[in-house]
Order: sequence, then structure tokens, then C-alpha cells
Amino acid sequence: MIHLPLPNGRSMPALGLGTWNLRDNDCVAVVRMALQAGYRHIDTAEMYGNETEIGQALADSGVPREELFLTTKVWTNHHREKDFIRAAEDSLRRLKTDHVDLLLIHWPNEAVALEETLRALSRLAHQGKTLSIGVSNFPLELLKKAQALADRPIACDQVPLSLDHPQDALLPYAFQQKVVVCAYTPLEKGKFLGRRDLAEIGKRHGKTPAQVALRWLIQQGGIAAIPKAAGSLHLRENIGIFDFELTAEEMELLKAPRN
Ligand code: NAP
Repeated sequence: MIHLPLPNGRSMPALGLGTWNLRDNDCVAVVRMALQAGYRHIDTAEMYGNETEIGQALADSGVPREELFLTTKVWTNHHREKDFIRAAEDSLRRLKTDHVDLLLIHWPNEAVALEETLRALSRLAHQGKTLSIGVSNFPLELLKKAQALADRPIACDQVPLSLDHPQDALLPYAFQQKVVVCAYTPLEKGKFLGRRDLAEIGKRHGKTPAQVALRWLIQQGGIAAIPKAAGSLHLRENIGIFDFELTAEEMELLKAPRN
């Protein structure tokens, strides 16, 4: 596993489990399988409706809390300061923990001043209810605005990022600022996995197209990825990307725009 340094001196495992659409007993089972496969970074959100199940699976696992990296996100209907704080505290209760490692504003909401929402995030961080603060779905200029308004570093921007969605504007700035970019939908739900170049490169390394696509993200440095997987096969496949390296030529080839 690669660990990405965060401004608070801690770090984020570069590969995590995305949990959107995992519900009820399926969610508990998948989180349990993920922990057994070595995952220590779990991504959820109040909007996903699965924090209770994730909290249960984590509590039952016996994995020490300090080994886990837990991210949750507050939804757009809770951007006012009091609402945001209450929503985050409700998430903590459901997750059966006194803190998350990273708390994100799930989406921008122009109806509430960003300053107010960031004030809530800061208060929660000050109280130790989150160890880092961050944003999600913030394009470059909005990330800059959040950085200017926040009283502590924005540790992460979680955005759609994949071979098909390279985020060319955001990445150089985030890398330079040491803001971790967390890639969501990193496999584009499997859409591009039939690409011949992925298969050819994978064959050279004894890896699958999904593993090449995830490795391409992680190997850029400063990027974490949170693919969702529903079973042991995909879970193990996706975390099996830390025992090989793409060549510089392969990295460039995959980056090249395609018709
Ligand atoms: P994704 O991870 O790109 O794709 C998930 C799909 O890919 C599932 O159908 C899964 O199948 C399949 N898959 C997983 N591993 C595979 C493999 N090795 N080979 C072939 N297929 C594989 O898309 P996503 O679920 O949209 O995104 C991942 C996570 O990002 C979400 O779960 C959520 O945590 C986060 N997210 C955040 C936001 C936000 O606004 N911040 C928005 C969207 C998503 P199986 O399920 O059958 O394994």
C-alpha cells in the first residue's frame, strides 16, 4: 500500500473502498471482505444511507480504529453551520466512532456562503471530530476559494478522475499545493476496461485492465482511488496494484487523448 501524506502529519492509504450503492447486509459483507483483503480506507457519505452498516462491519471486525482511514461527507441540504455540525455528529453516531479521518463537503452549494460551511468543518476539526477537512466536486477555482477561506489546510478534493476523466486543470495545482486528489468513479463503472492498450500493458505485467487503470492513477503520486466492488474477486483485484510499476512510456501512452 502507498500512503499519501496529509497536512496534519497523518496519511491516507492510496486505495480505498467506495461504498455508494452498497446497502444493508450486502454492505456489511463487502466491508468485512474488504478488511480481510487488506483495505484500511473506507469512503462513505451521509447521502449513501449505509453509515450504520459500515459502522457495524468496522466494529465487528476487530481492526483497531487507528489502523482505519474513514471518510464521510455531509450533503448539500446541511450546509448551514448548525445543520452541518449536527449532520456530521449523526454520521459519527451511525459509524460508531468519535471521529472520522476526513470529513468532506460532498458538493458545492451556492445557496449557502462557503465561509459558513467551512466554519462548521473547522469547528468539528477543532473538537477532534474529524482529523482532516476537505471538499468534493470542487473545481479548481472553488478549491482555491476554499483554501483562502479555511483556517486550516484543505487536505483533499474528491472528484471524478479516471483515464476518461483526467482532470487536467485541477491536478497540477493540487499536486503543487499538496492537496490529495481522491479519484471517484476511477473505473468509470467498467466502461473502458475493454480497451486494447489496457489489455496489452496488463499482459506485460501479469495484471488486468482494471489494475492497470488504477495503477495509472496511483502512480502519478498525490492521487488516491476509491473503486467500488461488490465481491471478493474485484476487491482483491483492485488492491493488487502495489507490486508492479508502469514504465514512463506506459504512463504517457495511457494519458494520450483517444479518438
Ligand atoms: P467505479 O468504482 O468506477 O465502478 C464501480 C463498478 O466497477 C462496479 O460495477 C464494479 O462491479 C465494477 N468493478 C469494480 N472493480 C472491478 C474490476 N476489478 N474489474 C471489473 N469491474 C470492476 O464507480 P463508482 O462506484 O461510481 O465510484 C466509486 C466510489 O466513488 C463510490 O462507490 C463512492 O464511494 C465514490 N463516489 C463519490 C462521489 C462524490 O460525489 N464524491 C460520486 C460518485 C462516487 P461490482 O460492483 O460487480 O464489483
